[in-house]
Order: sequence, then C-alpha cells, then structure tokens
Amino acid sequence: MARRKLVAGNWKMNGSLAALAELDGIDAAARANPGVDVAICPPFTLIAPAVARAPGLPIGGQDCHAARCGAHTGCTSVELLREAGAALVIVGHSERRADQHETSEEVRGKAGAAIAGGLVAIVCVGETEAERDAGQALAVVERQLAESLPAGADAATLVVAYEPVWAIGTGRTPSCDDIACVHAALRARLRTLIGGEADGVRILYGGSVKPDNAAEILNLPDVDGALVGGASLTAAQFAPIIAAC
Ligand code: PGA
Repeated sequence: MARRKLVAGNWKMNGSLAALAELDGIDAAARANPGVDVAICPPFTLIAPAVARAPGLPIGGQDCHAARCGAHTGCTSVELLREAGAALVIVGHSERRADQHETSEEVRGKAGAAIAGGLVAIVCVGETEAERDAGQALAVVERQLAESLPAGADAATLVVAYEPVWAIGTGRTPSCDDIACVHAALRARLRTLIGGEADGVRILYGGSVKPDNAAEILNLPDVDGALVGGASLTAAQFAPIIAAC
C-alpha cells in the first residue's frame, strides 16, 4: 500500500512567538514538496498563533489528557487542542515517559482520546541504550506498541514513531539496517493488532534526523517519514529534510 511520507517537527519546549517566523520557510518547503505531509508541533501556547501564521500547515500538540475536562491542573484536553486549531498530537514521547513517568496504559488512553476527538495521534515508542545493549530493542518496542495502541486506531488516525531514546538529541543514530529491522518488526506487530489497516499506518523514525542523514533514513523500507526535534526549529534545517523525501 502506498503511504505518503510525513515529516513532523517536535519543537519540544523551544520556540517563541518570534520564532514562528520560521513557519514561513517551513510552509514554503511543504508547498514545494506536495507529495510529502509536513506538520509542526510547537508548545501549547504557540499552537493558535502558529495556525494563524501558517493556516495551510498542520499544527499539533505534544501531549494531551485522556479526559474531556475536569480537575487536571496544567493539563490540556483534546477539545482544547482542537479549538486552538491542532490537527494532530504526539503522545508517549520518551521524554514524557521518563520525566512525567507516563506508562503505556496512560499513553493508550491519551491516544484513544485524541483519535476519538478527531486528531491524528503520533504514538511514540523506543528502547533505551541499556535495552538495546541487552538485545531487548525489538521486544521493548513491540510491547510498548501493543500496550499503547488504542481501540479504533486505523491508517487515517494513527501514526507510529520509532524513536530510540539514546538517539534523541545526541547526534547518534542506529545503523540503517537496525532502523529497517525495527520498522519491519513494528509493521508486523501492527498487523497482528489492527489487521490490514497496518499496511496504511505511517511509521516514522525519530532521533537525530538531520539534513545530512535524512535521505538515507527516509528511503529505507517501511520508514514513512520522520519525527524531527532540533532540526525542525529552523526552516534552514527542516526544509532539506522535507525535500529528502
Ligand atoms: P531530535 O529529537 O531530532 O532532536 O533528536 C527527536 C524527538 O525527540 O522527537
């Protein structure tokens, strides 16, 4: 099944109102590459201004709460994200699994709420360096995927991102063979979880994707795009990654 590539930028806790000027160049790169889907996930407070600045560019959140509303200080619901203009949301990023102690069960709740509320959910999985060294990488990511996947996920609403924890923000990446191997395993596991829909689900690679390694990573079998952190903050770095698709 042909899958459109998706290159999504995760700004994490970076950016500013002034930095939204970068969206002009990112939007231009997206329009210059109409065969590629492009999205940016800035911090919550920048979502609405980002939508206003680049109305044609899908904008997303970096987390959501599983509940519709209620006494959850500091949290943001799917409905609030939608109202701000978000079209997608990242859930289960390893920084949240580590810093906020999010479990796969919680990630499943968030992903389910996102999909039920009309957002595309980018569900992140990835092994630590110790897990890889112990030969556990495939087992870890397959378990995270199975435990994080909500009911009702299909090719239109679910994106999976494979992000080895040790590759995030470090300048290190797995070998191309290792990336291809994990993506093939995730695709196979997805088939057992959601059947034929699995062939339409985009599986992104994330972790130190840069202009100089994007082409070789993005052209691997079963790699349907990238989730990009640091290199998504400027159009100068992000545009060549989009073009590498
Ligand atoms: P990085 O981050 O591209 O800066 O390594 C990727 C991510 O955490 O999504």
